[in-house]
Amino acid sequence: MFIDVSNLKKSYTSGEIRNEVLKGIGLKLNKREIGVILGPSGSGKSTLMNIIGGIDRGDSGKVIVDGVELNNLNDDGLTEYRRGDIGFVFQFYNLVPNLTVGENIEVVANISKLPLNTDEVLAAVEMQDKKNRFPRELSGGEQQRVSIARAIVKNPKLLLCDEPTGALDYQTSRSILKLLHKVNQKYGTTILMITHNAAIAAMANRVFRMRSGEIVEEVVNHTTVPAERIEW
Ligand code: ADP
Ligand code: MG
Repeated sequence: MFIDVSNLKKSYTSGEIRNEVLKGIGLKLNKREIGVILGPSGSGKSTLMNIIGGIDRGDSGKVIVDGVELNNLNDDGLTEYRRGDIGFVFQFYNLVPNLTVGENIEVVANISKLPLNTDEVLAAVEMQDKKNRFPRELSGGEQQRVSIARAIVKNPKLLLCDEPTGALDYQTSRSILKLLHKVNQKYGTTILMITHNAAIAAMANRVFRMRSGEIVEEVVNHTTVPAERIEW
């Protein structure tokens, strides 16, 4: 198992009130698979993804990624794991506004151990002709392409996408999903993606449905649908 989460719990306390956000999550994903997490807002999806990505820590339970038990890492170890092994794509692209497209990617490549070539990843996301543009000169879909290029340039073991199409229109969303599928095929990157859109689940190998801090259903798709054939 590439990702092996078991009995993961997390709660937040504010004042007297304790909010159990993850109530004993189990989630497994094989290398090179695409996993999709579905569920209503507030069900704990981002919290779960942030713990798997080393942005946050659980209270109890185990999170093992590629043989590494994240609880055994100290803060520096967790930072190194997050920087070296994980690519993140968020709903709002988080590009650095005063750096060009190329520079946004190069700053990540420069701190990576075995980065891919910047021009190669720009070509993979079909943004090579916009290399010298600034983020404000791009559409939302183009900015998301750049943020995907930035996430994959470090050649991550795992790509975590938190509602990557949440701010995009239909056609642009489809092209971004197609691109994520291509990244999975071309680089063998394992992908875990959060989405509100149940139709997207057809492209995933495993689908996890969350509700109130629990995984209430898991579906294994023995055949998946290529992203370009999915419509909703
Ligand atoms: P989702 O991504 O499914 O919408 P989240 O994981 O973001 O859900 O949040 C799940 C619950 O945890 C929500 O009730 C949210 O208010 C709470 N929560 C998330 N992060 C924090 C935090 N840093 N402090 C307090 N509560 C939080
Ligand atoms: Mg969320």
